[in-house]
Formats: sequence, C-alpha cells, structure tokens
Amino acid sequence: MTFRTRFAPSPTGPLHLGHAYSAILAHDMAIKNNGEFLLRVEDIDQSRARPAWTQQIFDDLEWLGLTWPTPVMVQSNRQDAYDVALDQLWKDQLLFPCICNRKDISAAASAPQEGVPLIGPDGIIYPGTCRTTLFDAQADRPHNVALRLDVNSCAAYTTNYQETGNGAKSETGKITTSNIEIIDEVGAIVLARKDMGTSYHLSVVLDDAAMGITHVVRGQDLFDATKIHVLLQRLLMLPTPIYHHHTLIRDDQGKRLAKRDDARAISRYRDDGYTPADIRKMVGLAH
Ligand code: GLU
Repeated sequence: MTFRTRFAPSPTGPLHLGHAYSAILAHDMAIKNNGEFLLRVEDIDQSRARPAWTQQIFDDLEWLGLTWPTPVMVQSNRQDAYDVALDQLWKDQLLFPCICNRKDISAAASAPQEGVPLIGPDGIIYPGTCRTTLFDAQADRPHNVALRLDVNSCAAYTTNYQETGNGAKSETGKITTSNIEIIDEVGAIVLARKDMGTSYHLSVVLDDAAMGITHVVRGQDLFDATKIHVLLQRLLMLPTPIYHHHTLIRDDQGKRLAKRDDARAISRYRDDGYTPADIRKMVGLAH
C-alpha cells in the first residue's frame, strides 16, 4: 500500500506559518517513505470559502517547494458521495433530523438544572432538545434539515487507532475510545448541516478513504475529533488510517495562529524577501 499523506486546508483565508508547518511535515513524511503527498480543498462551507483563497493556497504551497498530484480533490464536488453515506446511515437508522437552532441548543444546555454546558469536540454537546420529535424512520432521508448521529443506537464499539504524534495531553500510541465516552463526551453530532448537506466530520472521513490516505498528519486541535472520525469509519466500513497530530505553531504570546493573523501569512513572508528555506527553519523543519 502506498504511504499517502495529505494537507486539507479550507480556503477561507491566507495560509500562515502553522499551515506551512503542517503541509511541509505531511509532505516530507510522504517523501521519506517513498509515498505520495496529496492536497484537498475543504470548501464545504461555501459561505466562507473563496476561489481566490484556493488559488493563493496553491501558489503558497508551490512557492514552498511542495508538489502534489492533480486533479486535486475539492469537497464542493463531492456531495454525491456524501449523500450515499448519509443514505446508508439513514437506512441503518443511525440518523435523526434535528430542527433546533444554535440558540435553542445553547439555551437548553445552559438551563439551570443542567449545570455548566458540556462541550465536546464539536461544540456544545447536544442536550436532546428535539430528540423526541416524531419522524418517520421508514421514509426517505429528509433533506434541508440537519441530521444528527444517533450515538445511543450505535452498536457497542470500542474504537482503536494508532497515534504517532500526540494529543494536547501527550496521548500517543494506541488510542482507545469506548461507546460510553462517545455518548458522554461527543454526543449526537451533526453529520449533515441544514445549509451544507454534509459536515466537516463526515466529509473528512469519506474523503480520506476515497483518497487512500494511510497517514493523516494534522494539528493537535483535531486530536479530540479523531474519535468521531474513527467511529464513522467503523459505521461506514472504511479503513482507519494512522494519525499523526502535531503541536501547533504559536505566536509570541503563546496563542495559536489564526487565519486572520495576516502578519504570519506565508505570502507576507515571501513579499518581505524571505525564502522557502527560511520558512522551513522558522517552523523547525529545515532540510
Ligand atoms: N480543513 C481543516 C482545517 O483547515 C483540516 C481538516 C483535517 O486536516 O482533518 O483546519
């Protein structure tokens, strides 16, 4: 099996030093293992994605000296594949429609009797607000409504995967998650958003499998989401890659870099006369 890594940026702003670190790390790891480095454009959030940012991402990565096979997978072209998976989960009675908006959910989760709202990798853990709403599970999958994963109905999985980097609490090696943890710490996450027809978690899992990714290299901020991804791989009978979560590049105040952190945009460094070798040095990945 070809050793395959990927970099999967969202075209919602300029790439900064943190992205450069992630992309170069994934690239170098693939090269070192005689493998392939792939690129994917994560533009399911069409309200924020811009074609100009996609072009800028290609330019920046090329300038850094990275190469990748084309055509590049673009998530906004993949709705058919997302629909097939959603249809299957619906048929397996693992989805339910959710008609709550963010306000309903945060109000229910912060009701006095609930105590402090529980936060999972996907934000506030769904407090069951509209779970009891009647719907016809035998009917075709409804569209134009959010669909949540019915975690309580998932068979009792204990999911395992191999982590070669680490989580924020230095978790590494074989990572095991029980169903109970998923139910308590993740909850009924949204797999199809009303406005998008999919979600980050569903798309990323289906796309990594479709691209044959064997090693997912990405920031530690996504470590906690990995248990969701591994659960979805079980439900959809997809292979689980090896994960390598890396530390995040931080600014002088110790804050992780954000898209709006223009000062550390790769293009800014380029305009200021820095070279790709300088960037590699700055992120600690000099050849
Ligand atoms: N698109 C995500 C981001 O830009 C990365 C997703 C992933 O690597 O799984 O943060």
